[in-house]
Amino acid sequence: MTNIIDGKLAAQQIREQLSAKVDAFVDVNGITPNLTVILVGDNPASQVYVRNKIRQTQQVGMISNEIKLADNVSQTEILAHIARLNADHNVHGILVQLPLPKHIDEHAILEAIEPHKDVDGFHALNSGKLFSGLPGGLVPCTPQGCVILAKKALGDNLSGKHAVVLGRSNIVGKPVAMLLLQQNCTVTIAHSRTENIAQVVRGADIVIAAVGIANFVKGDWIKPGATVIDVGINRIFDEQQDKYTLVGDVDFAEVVKVAGAITPVPGGVGPMTIACLLENTFLAATHSL
Ligand code: NAP
Repeated sequence: MTNIIDGKLAAQQIREQLSAKVDAFVDVNGITPNLTVILVGDNPASQVYVRNKIRQTQQVGMISNEIKLADNVSQTEILAHIARLNADHNVHGILVQLPLPKHIDEHAILEAIEPHKDVDGFHALNSGKLFSGLPGGLVPCTPQGCVILAKKALGDNLSGKHAVVLGRSNIVGKPVAMLLLQQNCTVTIAHSRTENIAQVVRGADIVIAAVGIANFVKGDWIKPGATVIDVGINRIFDEQQDKYTLVGDVDFAEVVKVAGAITPVPGGVGPMTIACLLENTFLAATHSL
């Protein structure tokens, strides 16, 4: 029987444990961790993500504020907000919801966030720490969630497993590859120029799919018993249901028949991303003491 890894349950467990840690932290230090989110424009998906992040932050006993800016806001104005939040001792985590409008230099915005408050873990200093194996950095949330879910299926020791990461973005592919390397996996990173990708994936004990193409990974690409972590979130029109649905980068119906464990979409990696963001916010608050 294939293990369907329950990301919702894993995220709930993290929130419950975190809630107790937050209570104790507030009691001892008289400081409530604070996550401030900057949302630019009115992208409906971003609005939903931000709403969920704020609600869940508050549910674990932390403070969450939102700064809403118009679509045509200048880069200077966003940078001014970040500078103010960087200097505010009551703010421990700063998150700028991506994507940003075309006229804004995303890189300049992310690099402006004080690294100790960079709860998304996208600042070059935090990536540098991750890639160099240095402690004390904030690790990107989705990659962190992927590793936790792989461990749910395989146990804490991933040493020696061959992991194939599909995708090499700075926010998912590269950092998840680094985290798996830290776990002593043998890591292959595949991307759009990889030759014989199906054959590459067939060698994997762990597959992390983060390409952004619906149902990309097929059943005959998977080694029987492999653990498959599906990061993809793709909105497609389902003819049978006559409505839009969310699917991952993995062809779930095919792969579930071959894999030993698999994350569903929705209900897999998605909930873990927010849970890890809450963890990072708490960590940032503890570092601020
Ligand atoms: P991205 O920046 O668009 O990167 C996609 C990666 O996939 C690139 O490295 C690209 O290779 C590779 N790729 C594209 N076509 C390919 C092909 N035919 N064969 C092999 N590799 C191919 O995407 P991302 O931001 O990493 O996100 C990936 C997916 O994860 C998306 O569906 C996104 O919505 C989802 N996501 C989910 C969460 C969550 O919380 N669950 C969080 C973040 C992202 P090249 O570099 O060669 O172009």
